[in-house]
Amino acid sequence: MSDFQGFGLVKPILRALKSAGYTHPTPIQDQAITPLMEHKDLLGIAQTGTGKTAAFALPTLHLLATGGKKALRREPRGLILAPTRELAGQIAGSIHAYSEDLPLRSMVAVGGVSIRPQMQKLNRGVHILVATPGRLLDLMKQGHASLRSVQIFILDEADRMLDMGFIHDVKKIAAQLPDRRQTALFSATMPKNVKLLADKLLTKPVLAEVTPPATTVEKIEQQVLFVPQNKKMQLLIEMLGDKKIQRALIFARTKYGANRVSEKITKTGINADAIHGNKSQNARQKALDKFRTGSIRVLVATDIAARGIDVEGITHVINFDLPNEPENYVHRIGRTARAGRQGVAISFCQANERHYLKNIEKVIRQTIPVSKNHPYHEEQPVKNEANNKKSPALENNKVK
Ligand code: AMP
Repeated sequence: MSDFQGFGLVKPILRALKSAGYTHPTPIQDQAITPLMEHKDLLGIAQTGTGKTAAFALPTLHLLATGGKKALRREPRGLILAPTRELAGQIAGSIHAYSEDLPLRSMVAVGGVSIRPQMQKLNRGVHILVATPGRLLDLMKQGHASLRSVQIFILDEADRMLDMGFIHDVKKIAAQLPDRRQTALFSATMPKNVKLLADKLLTKPVLAEVTPPATTVEKIEQQVLFVPQNKKMQLLIEMLGDKKIQRALIFARTKYGANRVSEKITKTGINADAIHGNKSQNARQKALDKFRTGSIRVLVATDIAARGIDVEGITHVINFDLPNEPENYVHRIGRTARAGRQGVAISFCQANERHYLKNIEKVIRQTIPVSKNHPYHEEQPVKNEANNKKSPALENNKVK
């Protein structure tokens, strides 16, 4: 792996990287930066945690900075679309940090906060706009944003974008982009609908692919605990007594579940909060900040709200409920063991979740070790369940 000097990035970017403490590009940066700097389209298969933000942000900044053009009123030259407000905020934060010494203006436009300051900023002119689809369409409809000067378009986390039902919004936005433009699409997974979208948006793309799911989870110590549903809360609270769990991100399947788990934990005297789609943007941001600074030890989240969360030092990911989409398991546990650190992922699995476990193990191509080292271990595999074929997990669970 080379250092960043070899890419030919402008000096202010190199200085910013130095002060961020980045010495070497990550594999996705290694693969993506050069083609993007050569104005090529790119299909990036990479998940959060791989350094994908810098992989598209650095070339975007370089190209716009060396282009030497002024920011136009209402017409950004670089557009980055992200599925969630949190992710958009994080991308904008990175862009801001990398462009501190560049004569480029950038902004973020997301829903859940007042639209007026966003209008005003756009009307003054920015080079780079980071946005979520809904708010961007609102701004366009009201005449405060036009995409006709976009030179570089980045679609981040395309799989999540489609999962969240943004396909029509993305298509509407794409239809407003100039034909002559550069496009990069990033996605953690490549299901058929993402492939179709990539085919539509990209022209002769270079493929940059890092760590497919089976290998991204390698650094993470995984375990599954078979536990009856009505004992999950007790088990969780007992586990949290272990001080080794310094910073835990807990996943629940529903908003209601996330609230309930967070409330019960708080009642035991442990600082916790929940984030999910029913909370205001402000409340979500506050909870995230508290988690980041360590004033709460536990954050309970739903899949969608947790998407793109980039918090350093999460020691444990706990799946209070197993996700029904196996890809979400990979996304969830990828929140720990970042930047080369160790991490632990613990999954609770009640009887009727065992088919989810089976699907997850298929996707990660691993059998997750079963830990019986707790008082609520439920030995019996599910009875009376249709399709109850043997799975590696159930095999493991047999009495020796
Ligand atoms: P991302 O996948 O873009 O969410 O980035 C994951 C984390 O890696 C972020 O905290 C980045 O600040 C960090 N990061 C990105 N690139 C590098 C690099 N080349 N060296 C060290 N850390 C990096």
